[in-house]
Amino acid sequence: MPDSGQVRGARSGSGVLKCATMTLPSPHALPALPAHAIIREVGLRDGLQSISRVLPTAHKIEWIAAAYEAGQREIEVGSFVPARLRPQLADTAELLAFARTLPGLSASVLVPNLKGAERAMECEADLMLLPLSASHAHSLANLRKTPDEALAEIARIVAARDASGSHTLIEVGISTAFGCTLQGAVAPAEVLRLLRAVLDAGVDRVGLADTVGYADPAMVSRLFEQALPLAGARLNCAHFHDTRGLGLANAYAALQCGITRFDACLGGIGGCPHAPGASGNVATEDLAYMLLSMGVATGQDFNRLLDLRGHLAQWLAGETLHGSIWRAGLPRTLGAAPARAHHS
Ligand SMILES: [Zn+2]
Repeated sequence: MPDSGQVRGARSGSGVLKCATMTLPSPHALPALPAHAIIREVGLRDGLQSISRVLPTAHKIEWIAAAYEAGQREIEVGSFVPARLRPQLADTAELLAFARTLPGLSASVLVPNLKGAERAMECEADLMLLPLSASHAHSLANLRKTPDEALAEIARIVAARDASGSHTLIEVGISTAFGCTLQGAVAPAEVLRLLRAVLDAGVDRVGLADTVGYADPAMVSRLFEQALPLAGARLNCAHFHDTRGLGLANAYAALQCGITRFDACLGGIGGCPHAPGASGNVATEDLAYMLLSMGVATGQDFNRLLDLRGHLAQWLAGETLHGSIWRAGLPRTLGAAPARAHHS
């Protein structure tokens, strides 16, 4: 004779047995996803710095204005590096001045050294992003400093900011955190050592970056799970390049760890200097779509984002743009945007 609970459960569809089963923890249970996430547009810096042509300032201003209209509230507008090294980004001060006219927009700039940081503070950037390579070889090639010399410069920048009373936030992006084209493997222990050191130096935020597209979702989960207990809420940004097609999967892995800020480039522009033709950062519009589809709000207006991508494709005619969602449009289940191809 069957247990009475089973009988009740079978009849009602919500019986004891079923309830009992549902209370058991499933080994495959997904962690709850956050309700909101932020996408920082970094196409004007990380994207354009890898493209040799110089996008005119007027187009960049149009880009910033349209991204703002599309709901983006964090935009990296450029970099304070010498114009002879990065002529594509020579108009950063002008872009920052424009970005500061848009209420509620956080405008960030990349700065490689104290001199750049002084410019960022003079121009009242909301945030300055300081790169720190976890790869010794990449650090020497990119900043002409060892990671420890770069750390010392970061400490000088924090001291200068604090002494000046500037409100510019300091974020360190730990680049090549998952491997390096020059050096190969990068030990997670070295990433964690640098993470501790920049937190001790007093930076406001830190992020982990897969600069060359070597990460996979398991590596991302492992590193963020080790880093989060050290950094807490100060570790709040993930920066993935889609060089080998794993950008979105890596973003999802970081999201599951509780990370809610992501860098992305409209049209996936950019690239990798060591892999000609490779795609750049994860595409803003594809990341926005993935998050929207999973119920994670980003505040992005999809139609405006895709319109802007169309403009960018014209401004950069001849350059390869990447990403998928622009071809197909949103699925009808999300109730929006037919594919662009249908109206042009
Ligand atoms: Zn990057």
